[in-house]
Amino acid sequence: MRVRIYQSVNIQLDVSWYKRMKADPVRYAAWLERAARVAKQRPDLRRARERKWRLANPVSVHVHKKRDRARHANAQGLCFPHQWEARFNYYGRMCAYCGVKLTLSTTQADHVIAIKCGGSHWPSNLVPACSSCNGSKQMKRWTPRNFSLKKLS
Ligand SMILES: [Zn+2]
Repeated sequence: MRVRIYQSVNIQLDVSWYKRMKADPVRYAAWLERAARVAKQRPDLRRARERKWRLANPVSVHVHKKRDRARHANAQGLCFPHQWEARFNYYGRMCAYCGVKLTLSTTQADHVIAIKCGGSHWPSNLVPACSSCNGSKQMKRWTPRNFSLKKLS
């Protein structure tokens, strides 16, 4: 709840700042010019900001990498970070092939039907897998299992 209040306050502050900037076209143009100049002169600042973001969002980085590979192979489908997290939780935060416990940073998104075999990049074709399972599966058809459901029943 506290986080939500903080976020909403932050958003309001951001919006008011943007409105104030937009209200004065001369100032806004100057700000845009300065931002462009800084971006050109100091590419290291942007790189540092991106590195910081990558370290803070390892899940998004993994999902983006996977999506780019799938796009490169002309695969259909999209999977957003929150959908990938939902898939990971659905499979009990375990490898869907061997049942070993994983965390979001150690798991890998595996395409059940490999992209090379015409599989899609929709969330339904993605399961969490440990690195050894993902590496040895390659283009084979393995059946994912939900080990957490098995333990409950
Ligand atoms: Zn495994």
